[in-house]
Amino acid sequence: MVHLEVRGRNAWVIPGVIESRGRPGRGGDMASHPVRVAVLGRPGSGKGTQSARLARVLGVPHISTGELLRAEIEQGSPVGRRAQEYVDSGQLAPDELVLMSLSRRLERDDVTRDGFVLDGFPRTIDQAVALDTLLAPHGLDAVVELMVPEREAAERLGARLVCPECGRSVSRDQRSGLCDHCGTVLARRTDDDADVIKRRFDVFESETRPLLEWLDHNGRLVAVDGDRSVSEVTRRVIAAVQAVLEHQRSSAP
Ligand code: ADP
Repeated sequence: MVHLEVRGRNAWVIPGVIESRGRPGRGGDMASHPVRVAVLGRPGSGKGTQSARLARVLGVPHISTGELLRAEIEQGSPVGRRAQEYVDSGQLAPDELVLMSLSRRLERDDVTRDGFVLDGFPRTIDQAVALDTLLAPHGLDAVVELMVPEREAAERLGARLVCPECGRSVSRDQRSGLCDHCGTVLARRTDDDADVIKRRFDVFESETRPLLEWLDHNGRLVAVDGDRSVSEVTRRVIAAVQAVLEHQRSSAP
């Protein structure tokens, strides 16, 4: 967990990473305008956990397209009914469905005022282009790739349980059977069985790998080693985002 230490009036510090002034909970000068960050990585790379932590530090909403689709499925909405077979089988849901759900979320006041950390979108070059159009004239400020070897990611997914209520994940090793946060009975995600995990990895290589190469080629990608402790990865993600935002600020006209 990253701790914000309050130092005097309106000043705080995230040890070793960000030192700034402004409203606690927002990343310093990053508070002066909406901050829009996307976190990408293969299934099991820790996108959900790290995006939630980054969003808390920046004081912006965490938006996961996987969570949005699972919520639509849970509600039995028209989008959910059409998305279910894709989510259950580990394939990408059609862009039209994901964009319908995502664009509704991006229109809300918290997002237009503060920005967001987007988790699991874009996953293809087409989705990146669609997102640029949705966000125009100001696109994403930073795109972070969490790099974790496939074997480690597969182990994590095979060992995880999730809270159906608040979405937190825990490793089965530490299982009490109940969510530490809200007390709900933990469950296995339906797409965390071995065949579906394999399909999700294949989709990542065929669909998302070209996007990562494209973003990298355009100088828009920051890679972070995700094969470390949760807190260490968080520290590095925050440092990476901070560096990108500072670079943008210093090179702005
Ligand atoms: P993971 O990245 O570990 O597979 P997510 O919760 O991010 O888990 O996504 C779960 C599923 O939701 C995906 O396998 C896919 O079916 C669907 N999904 C999520 N994001 C997208 C997206 N950007 N485009 C298409 N489908 C998506």
